[in-house]
Amino acid sequence: MSHKGILIVISGFSGAGKGTLVRKLMEKYDEYALSVSMTTRAPRPGEREGVEYFFTDKEHFEETIRQNGLIEYASYCGNYYGTPRAYVEKQLAEGKNVILEIEIQGALKIKSQFPESLLLFLTPPSGEELKRRLEGRKTESEEVIAKRLARAVEESEGVEAYDYIVVNDKLEECVEEVHSLVDAARRAPLRQEAFLRKIREELQRFTKGAD
Ligand code: ADP
Ligand code: 5GP
Repeated sequence: MSHKGILIVISGFSGAGKGTLVRKLMEKYDEYALSVSMTTRAPRPGEREGVEYFFTDKEHFEETIRQNGLIEYASYCGNYYGTPRAYVEKQLAEGKNVILEIEIQGALKIKSQFPESLLLFLTPPSGEELKRRLEGRKTESEEVIAKRLARAVEESEGVEAYDYIVVNDKLEECVEEVHSLVDAARRAPLRQEAFLRKIREELQRFTKGAD
């Protein structure tokens, strides 16, 4: 079977554990590449330019949109976030599974542009646990946490658009579950076009020979 890279979208409520999960997945398996997004949000303490995000201002972000430099972008809690095009296209061409850690509006744009992408929605086991994780992270003010919890209510309405829901209860189990889903997705016929084309051509050659 062919091993062309899959475009994987991982969304989930803020505080669900997306960043933590993706870090673990990449530590464990080398077939994944993480797309670093561009954002107009200010860096959190410890965040590094080009590692967590490419931090920029509104003017530069809008210029990048005009130049078609993003495969999708969205506005989230008052800031722009977008996926730079060049990196994603290069990594997919090289056979890597490219992870986009993006919110729901962006996820829907990706699905319509790339129907063979895999959309995963990560959630903690309960609303209570989400609040606990957001507060425990200690990276946002009470006001921002309230905004993000309100946004989670809206996002919970859009989950049906995703291929799978993944519950992040025990982190190690969650990493394995995501890896298994990607492995299973790769076997779907719509992601095996090249392999199918090849075997059909071979079979046709036999048919011609038999007449
Ligand atoms: P997101 O990227 O979805 O906003 P983070 O990865 O920053 O979320 O995780 C939010 C907080 O929850 C962090 O403090 C992280 O250490 C913690 N966390 C992540 N996964 C788990 C888990 N499975 N169990 C308990 N805490 C977790
Ligand atoms: P945070 O500020 O917590 O880093 O991210 C806020 C939200 O923006 C998260 O839901 C995250 O997944 C999403 N996000 C990050 N990068 C992108 C992106 O490039 N595009 C879109 N549409 N959403 C993004």
